[in-house]
Amino acid sequence: MTDYKNLIDGEMVDNGEWLEVLNPANEQVVGRVPACGKDELDRAVAAARRAFKEWKKTPQEERQKVVQGIAAAIKGNADELYRLLTSEQGKPHTQAQQEIYGAAGLAAAQSTLTLDDVISQDDDTRLSRTRRVPVGVVGGIVPWNFPIMMAIQKIVPALVAGCTIVLKPSPFTPLTTLRIAELIKDVVPAGTVNIITGEDTLGPLITEHPDIDKITFTGSTATGKKIMAGASGDLKRITLELGGNDASIVLPDADVEKVAEQLFWSSFSNAGQVCIAAKRVYIHKDIYDDLSKAIAAYANTVVVGDGSQQGTGVGPIQNKKQYERVLELIQDAKDNGYKFLTGGDKDPSGTGYYVPITILDNPPEDARIVAEEQFGPVMPLLKFDTIDEVIERANNSDYGLAGAVWTKDTDKGVEIAEQLETGTVWINEFMHLSPFAPFGGHKQSGFGAEYGVDGLKEFTYPQVITVKRDAAV
Ligand code: NAD
Repeated sequence: MTDYKNLIDGEMVDNGEWLEVLNPANEQVVGRVPACGKDELDRAVAAARRAFKEWKKTPQEERQKVVQGIAAAIKGNADELYRLLTSEQGKPHTQAQQEIYGAAGLAAAQSTLTLDDVISQDDDTRLSRTRRVPVGVVGGIVPWNFPIMMAIQKIVPALVAGCTIVLKPSPFTPLTTLRIAELIKDVVPAGTVNIITGEDTLGPLITEHPDIDKITFTGSTATGKKIMAGASGDLKRITLELGGNDASIVLPDADVEKVAEQLFWSSFSNAGQVCIAAKRVYIHKDIYDDLSKAIAAYANTVVVGDGSQQGTGVGPIQNKKQYERVLELIQDAKDNGYKFLTGGDKDPSGTGYYVPITILDNPPEDARIVAEEQFGPVMPLLKFDTIDEVIERANNSDYGLAGAVWTKDTDKGVEIAEQLETGTVWINEFMHLSPFAPFGGHKQSGFGAEYGVDGLKEFTYPQVITVKRDAAV
């Protein structure tokens, strides 16, 4: 077991009080991290505030180089990092590798983003220019499903925009983030990036801290609402990436054999603990029987187990609370007599938070397992008849994060996509996010956006400077 320290003002520090972090595959302690409170937060915020004075004046090319240094540090240590990530998060090694390399790639790509000045008037009367200025000190709060990707997608745009940041990982998955903190300690100027750990109770202290100017948060919708309320005291800027109940719509012309495996992974990647996982899969009635059989047959070839073992496709649920919630949803489906194509009948007790791959056969639309975000290895297959009907069912949710349409007729796919009330829609793929396009939720799936120029703008204020050219002075 290793102790991991926090990064405050360029130093790796601890306060002598520790939180234990468990491996969800075997419930053994894998490491300890400092249990921080107000004192450590105040120190981190003060360091970020001091660093902001210089960092905001640092030329953009230099800021970009620092961010590229972060990308290189992650990529150069990927082997160590992905193993550590599996040991605390549970995801299989292959998926942990994708997250680590993906985070390095995202940092490198986003380092190239720029916010150029915009001239709105340039004539004999006046010159009017809009520039973007960094908001200041950012508080970043991240969840446990993609701890590194989410940390990087907060740290990188903050730095590129000229802000400094205090980041809080989830108490369930702080280890790899703190190892990265150690690796970038001498890459980033002291105080620009601070990473502190603590229980959930540290979150509201960040949200309400008077010297933090902006909160960027990824997590559940319930916590997002608390953050919005907490940040309202001093009108902090906020970006919220929240939950989803994404619908996949499979049209009758889709090739059953070709889409079955892709549909499976659109729901079961990271044991279903993905905000943009397909959580409701609508299949046209003409191919429903064949496709549901093909998905179930593929599911039976996938191994559920310890993510560090070769061959594991689906790891454990990340933490006990979520494990119990997913089991409760499955029990509710059993109690209501819904039909299972896989899962549901196996005893999930024993060491480790394992849930069998669970596929439901056309449960009712108002079943809890359909209407709620499952965030686990659960996939309800739902039969539909007409396009209008399926669009209405897909949109019948408070969430609006993402969705997918599967069809050979891509024009038809786009026509359906344009009627879905979500921030992202894929035709014939899933979970693809571009560093250069905005990612954000409609309705209760979010507020604002990350990624791309739109995401970068959220770390800035617009400032308009106007010179009156024909002034009498
Ligand atoms: P969570 O909301 O429980 O916790 C997220 C973070 O918030 C953690 O760091 C936690 O310590 C902190 N926190 C908890 N209470 C807080 C409070 N009152 N004030 C401030 N911070 C607080 O979410 P989770 O269970 O870690 O993550 C799962 C959820 O995240 C799912 O709903 C999922 O859909 C969502 N998610 C969304 C996206 C997206 O981009 N939209 C990405 C990943 C996960």
